[in-house]
Amino acid sequence: MLHASLKTLSQGLASGKYSSVELTQYFLRRIEQLNPTLNSFITVDAQKSLAQASAADAQRAQGRAQPLTGIPIAQKDIFCAKDWLTTCGSKMLSQFISPYDAHVIERFNSAGAVNLGKTNMDEFAMGSSNETSFFGPVRNPWDTERVPGGSSGGSACAVAAGLAPAATGTDTGGSIRQPAAFTGICGLKPTYGLVSRYGMIAFASSLDQGGPMGNSAEDLAMLMPVMAGFDARDSTSLDRPVEDYERDLAKPLSGLRIGLPKEFFAQGTSPEVLNAIEQSIVEYQKLGASIVEVSLPNMALSVPVYYVLAPAEASSNLSRYDGVRYGHRSAQYQTLSELYENSRAEGFGAEVKRRILIGAYVLSHGYYDAYYLRAQKLRRLIAQDFTDAFAHCDVLMGPTSPSTAFKLGEKSNDPVQMYLSDIYTIAVNLAGLPGMSIPCGLDKQGLPIGLQIIGNYFREAQMLNVAHQYQLATDWHQRRSPHFGEALTS
Ligand code: GLN
Repeated sequence: MLHASLKTLSQGLASGKYSSVELTQYFLRRIEQLNPTLNSFITVDAQKSLAQASAADAQRAQGRAQPLTGIPIAQKDIFCAKDWLTTCGSKMLSQFISPYDAHVIERFNSAGAVNLGKTNMDEFAMGSSNETSFFGPVRNPWDTERVPGGSSGGSACAVAAGLAPAATGTDTGGSIRQPAAFTGICGLKPTYGLVSRYGMIAFASSLDQGGPMGNSAEDLAMLMPVMAGFDARDSTSLDRPVEDYERDLAKPLSGLRIGLPKEFFAQGTSPEVLNAIEQSIVEYQKLGASIVEVSLPNMALSVPVYYVLAPAEASSNLSRYDGVRYGHRSAQYQTLSELYENSRAEGFGAEVKRRILIGAYVLSHGYYDAYYLRAQKLRRLIAQDFTDAFAHCDVLMGPTSPSTAFKLGEKSNDPVQMYLSDIYTIAVNLAGLPGMSIPCGLDKQGLPIGLQIIGNYFREAQMLNVAHQYQLATDWHQRRSPHFGEALTS
């Protein structure tokens, strides 16, 4: 069962090889054994998960099973789930029991999936290493002295170490793709607006997007129709019919035009990463694709633009945590402003405070035009670069991250170094495009390398086809950490 595909698990449930209760127990046992080392989950509630599992078994017995009925899925702790502790990795919400379900959770529930637990993450999804979590860092299953990436590091680790068959993540500037790359799994950030943000705790609303993380492109294709779909409660949710994301998986790649943006092969990227990407491009050529060189001239501006816009939106979104309505409330206060100040001072960690300060600064009266407005204009230019590039190709490819997983503590005292590790993922969020990461190699230290595939708007089915064909020809996605896993059985 370890690392089995969702299809295999679904068939196992359908044929009665195992029940959902047994499957869920199997993963709960893995979590019990390995979570003390990996710190991948913040909350596990066996009773709740098993109750859902036995309801799924009953549903199946009545002939009402759907493809995901009875399959346990780990949920990033940014998604509100009714009656579950929902912390967003923060002390601020460390006691918050959600009174309602996020749209994504509702969808998984109605698909019959089992909530396996809530995964660890950087505080309010701000980070690239999981080190900003109030609940301590997650460890990379390939080398526990290294980070799993962030902010969806708990979800990535859970899938990579076989603690869950699949998981959810969110990606504001790379938080699905970069941890997928660092842990050797697959992750997809959909087109902005495809997955409802209702009940997904807000970081930077114009960039945040939920998406699936799993063992293969095929698995992601099964999860997408559950996660995507119109929701009137999110004003940016797109009113489009849910697609069949598996429809194009089997298509041959002959005629596919792959654009290689020259800015993605910049200095500062590890030669081993570049080499693995080049090898995968050769593989794609064997599969019938042709290569076009393209340029995204404003790429270099994406990190500075993001670190104006994302903190600006965060400072506004996080103003709701005032110690009055919900979240942490300080025990020390005399006046109302002391209540606000002390609750926020105690409830937020250093990275979150840094972002609130930057955000409030760039939105302030004297600096709004110079920073915020300017960044909005540049965001438009960055998006236009992609539109121009897609006139010449179908998908773009390059590295997900300039390096493989770094050591715990290596960048945590140098925010700018940390921010630069997102250089290849951030522009995609600024443009609202879909992006994914799939494993494409291992470096000399045996650490996974991620290939990033960027598609045009709403081209998720095509991206999944492109990824799946590569996965039929190679086995990088089946490699697992020798310490926590074993070879894929199916
Ligand atoms: N690492 C980026 C940041 O710290 C992106 C995080 C994310 O995608 N949630 O903001």
